[in-house]
Amino acid sequence: MKIAILSDIHSNLEALISVLNNLSKESFDFIISLGDIVGYGPDPEKCVDIIQREKIISIKGNHERMLIKPEDRIFANELARRAIEWTEENLSLKSKIFLESLPEKYEYEGLLFVHGSPLNPDEYIIRRRVAIDSIQKIKEDGFKLCFFGHTHLPGIFYEDGAFSYFDKTLLEGEKYYLINPGSVGQPRDRNPKSSYLIFDFQEYSVNLKRVEYNITNTVEKIQNYGLPEELGTRLYYGI
Ligand code: ZN
Repeated sequence: MKIAILSDIHSNLEALISVLNNLSKESFDFIISLGDIVGYGPDPEKCVDIIQREKIISIKGNHERMLIKPEDRIFANELARRAIEWTEENLSLKSKIFLESLPEKYEYEGLLFVHGSPLNPDEYIIRRRVAIDSIQKIKEDGFKLCFFGHTHLPGIFYEDGAFSYFDKTLLEGEKYYLINPGSVGQPRDRNPKSSYLIFDFQEYSVNLKRVEYNITNTVEKIQNYGLPEELGTRLYYGI
């Protein structure tokens, strides 16, 4: 059993298509997306269509919540808020209903999939303390592995709260891990390539993949559609 895990697509059609093309060369049983299909980027409708057409299992991210609940936007930064207002105007009712229907988390064979952290879907697992508390929570809830997104930073948190980037890593069966596949549509680890991972159940390994896409096309659309310009330029730098 192999699972392809991706997150934070953020309406970046070129990035999503590149990742799916790359995946077509891999063997896997299903794909799961850890939230934030929309927000920031120029192609929300097309990205939601692909998610549905490819039957990608999905959970809600904070951008989906902001889209559905305008009162949540007060917590967002200016760029995120402007982009979600634009997304609201450029997404069909059918797609909004689909996004609203998504669950907050997903469980499969002892694996937990969340957007933010196992404690709170809006929480960023970025500090050691939050990582340790999150590991404690999955222990209590009977999970060994938790896959999460939201920070757009690919990496593994270990039981002591240490964090590291990875490519192919064999996991130890008796240990607990929090694992982030990085972001498809807006990487923030200073590597502009899209990021996703393959989890191999038999081998008990994770393998991080990075994929190039046509950033210029995405940036031009961001400019032409009147989205904040910074949302385009950051893509070149992976920030
Ligand atoms: Zn995000």
